[in-house]
Amino acid sequence: MNSRNSAAISRPQASGISHWFAQLYPDGCPRRTTLSGLVETDVCIVGAGYSGLWTAYELRRADPTLDVVVVEAEVAGFGASGRNGGAVIALLQGTREQWALRGDGRRGAIALEREIIRTVDEIGETVHREGIDCAFSKNGVLEVARTQTELLHFRHMVQRDREWGFGPDDYTMLGADETRRRVAVDGALGARFSPHCASIHPGALVRGLADATERAGAVIYEGSPVRSIEPGRATTVEGQVRARYVIRATEAYTESLESDHRQIVPVHTSMLATAPIPDETWAQIGWAGREALLAEHPFLHLQHTADQRITIGGDDNRIPYRYGSRPSPLGGAPKRVVHMYHSELLRLFPALREIPIEHTWQGVFGAPRSWMPGVHLDRDTGLGWVGGYVGEGVAPSNLAGRTMRDLVLGRDTELTRLPLVEPPIRRWEPEPLRFIGAAVVATMRNVGTRRELRTDRPSRLITMGNRLAGYQGHG
Ligand SMILES: Cc1cc2nc3c(=O)[nH]c(=O)nc-3n(C[C@H](O)[C@H](O)[C@H](O)COP(=O)(O)OP(=O)(O)OC[C@H]3O[C@@H](n4cnc5c(N)ncnc54)[C@H](O)[C@@H]3O)c2cc1C
Repeated sequence: MNSRNSAAISRPQASGISHWFAQLYPDGCPRRTTLSGLVETDVCIVGAGYSGLWTAYELRRADPTLDVVVVEAEVAGFGASGRNGGAVIALLQGTREQWALRGDGRRGAIALEREIIRTVDEIGETVHREGIDCAFSKNGVLEVARTQTELLHFRHMVQRDREWGFGPDDYTMLGADETRRRVAVDGALGARFSPHCASIHPGALVRGLADATERAGAVIYEGSPVRSIEPGRATTVEGQVRARYVIRATEAYTESLESDHRQIVPVHTSMLATAPIPDETWAQIGWAGREALLAEHPFLHLQHTADQRITIGGDDNRIPYRYGSRPSPLGGAPKRVVHMYHSELLRLFPALREIPIEHTWQGVFGAPRSWMPGVHLDRDTGLGWVGGYVGEGVAPSNLAGRTMRDLVLGRDTELTRLPLVEPPIRRWEPEPLRFIGAAVVATMRNVGTRRELRTDRPSRLITMGNRLAGYQGHG
């Protein structure tokens, strides 16, 4: 990296929760009332990210007689929901074969994929109905190939899409010229395109959704960390909620509950946002369609934001897991990661070399042992959970919330018959096995990624690392 580039990244500010929150709340985010004393309700939801809020919102809309309380440790959107890349992508972690095994065979896997595709529009409709100003814009997603290995991989994926009954209106391959006409990614050889993706301002969605949830009649407490969940109650330091149903929506922070160890591990990742980019630079980049952009080696996700910035995040070449499953998302991205993302950004778009990075932040997403999300409610104990999205949760959390609504209301619907509804999940290994495993797998994947980039041939290290972790990917 030359000195000019270094100058461009010397000024980024750590922005509290994220760039999104810094934009919404330059003077700090206001906090709702803390829970104190005893509160009795029908449904208590722990965690005010997208999962908890969609569940509460949908429950109140479906049955306004139901009392619903949401208890949040910090503020609504403190977790990944206020920190993410803003791609509302119709994607669930887990391969189609894995989803077929979990439920109603091939039919169930296809029904689930059709439902997650529909979910993107469902979110758009709610945002519109509730007047949530989160720049929702359905522009699709481009997975850009820059090496022959990536190109072959995406072609193979499209072939598999067809075998599973998804047509060119769902997923299609674009040639190099068409790809570069849309967005001038340096060295682009082609792209897999899907229209089933929208871009949003993630902070505005989660904060707007919290307001809509309150308007729908639910009560949200903030600054109230729940210490334990038991059948019929959730307990904080200063208070307790008694409820017929207690739903856990704590994702990467689940380890904070005395009752729920080794269910979900936190995976750390970082993001950067550039300063607004001038028109003359956009003229070189193109990207007028503002599709969500994904790249491989390393995995990167980028957004062309409504206010003309680019945000970038993804695999940041670190061991993304901390010993004991302790999430520590506060503050800006580590300097090494800022340099790494910035050089990746310039590799994609050399025209950005004069554009400063304005914000950096960190976040954690949650990974269950199966690497597949789920929704579960035990009607006997009244305990339930939603989550486990492994970094792709913006659209799935809406589907999970609507599914939990139907489970709580005791309805037998198309949603409750999807393979997303699953029994209690397998636990992660105890420490130090968990940490050692994560370090070995991350190192194999990082070395494999660099090797694949150097040789333009698939690296067995990545496959072996994934196999060791039990991770099969998606699609
Ligand atoms: C940097 C980053 C980029 C991402 N980009 C994308 C993307 O572009 N597209 C996509 O689909 N997905 C993306 N994801 C994943 C996505 O953001 C998450 O899957 C989704 O936001 C999860 O929502 P959630 O409500 O389940 O969890 P969270 O948003 O993490 O919410 C959990 C909430 O529970 C609260 N909580 C935890 N423990 C307690 C407790 N004991 N008591 C009370 N409250 C508690 C937390 O404070 C938090 O507010 C990204 C994630 C990260 C970190």
